[in-house]
Amino acid sequence: MKIAAFNLSGQGSFAQDAPALADAVKSSGADIVLLPGTSRVRRAVGAAAMRAGAEVDTNVVDLSIDGETVTAQRWLYRQRILATFSRAARPWVVVTDPSLFAGICEKVGAAPAALDPAPAASSRTTVNGLVAAGGGGESTIRPDAKLLFVAGAGWTKKQADGATHLDEAAATITGFLAKSGASLGSSKSLVDMPEAAEAFKFMSHMNQVGQTGATPRHAKGLSTCCHGEEPHVVGWRFIGERRAVNLDANCGWAQGKADVLYVADAFEVMRKVNELL
Ligand SMILES: Cc1cc2nc3c(=O)[nH]c(=O)nc-3n(C[C@H](O)[C@H](O)[C@H](O)COP(=O)(O)OP(=O)(O)OC[C@H]3O[C@@H](n4cnc5c(N)ncnc54)[C@H](O)[C@@H]3O)c2cc1C
Repeated sequence: MKIAAFNLSGQGSFAQDAPALADAVKSSGADIVLLPGTSRVRRAVGAAAMRAGAEVDTNVVDLSIDGETVTAQRWLYRQRILATFSRAARPWVVVTDPSLFAGICEKVGAAPAALDPAPAASSRTTVNGLVAAGGGGESTIRPDAKLLFVAGAGWTKKQADGATHLDEAAATITGFLAKSGASLGSSKSLVDMPEAAEAFKFMSHMNQVGQTGATPRHAKGLSTCCHGEEPHVVGWRFIGERRAVNLDANCGWAQGKADVLYVADAFEVMRKVNELL
């Protein structure tokens, strides 16, 4: 039975220690590999053992060898039970309590070798210059705007005539943004919708307001074609005066979440608003 012992020396990150330990376990050809349970070893040993195809145990306080049988001991249940156990799998990486490492190595006749991991390849990005990302249009997120205009999934739904009107919806929304200077918010349903992504290129996940979206701060908010569900409306907690346009008189906004709810067709309302502007 071959027993090897290693001790990490120098400085090393996880990215350096894990491959170095895995290589050491493999290239040593040892059945049992002893390591001291320092924070560096404990951080990297799980990954190293997996890469080396080894089994691993930690917090070992004693090791005995009797022929081909290796028996380890460790405390369980907050030091209430001292377990004596063995493993058939090889290689077996045994991580001892750090203070017991030297004594255990001496007991089993293994001389610890220092392992200094090679410096990791540099992955630092070198910046050659900057080019404006440019989304192909102007930004619809305007934190300084007085008004937050929120577009919900209703803009993509079949309307009274039984058809969707995506192009008209997009033109109405962008028309209003251009004339009012408002910032554009959206519901999760709308930004998650593939057909909306195609038609509403001016909008992205960055516009999403809500629990899993943004919490913008504007003096006023106008919600259109959005149901006013709680996960969306929590994103409105810093919006002052709130108004909503929805066909449904029982939508979430009517439940005390908006100051004014216009029960109306947002296509018609916003067409008229754009005309007036
Ligand atoms: C864990 C979790 C986190 C979430 N996080 C968020 C989040 O961060 N942000 C978010 O927005 N959602 C979030 N949601 C989803 C949220 O619960 C709602 O599903 C979502 O907000 C609904 O979007 P909506 O109101 O645009 O769409 P819908 O619920 O489909 O509502 C569309 C509305 O449009 C109205 N409508 C249709 N046509 C017209 C018209 N012509 N005129 C006027 N009104 C019309 C309809 O009456 C309807 O009320 C989350 C959900 C979960 C479970």
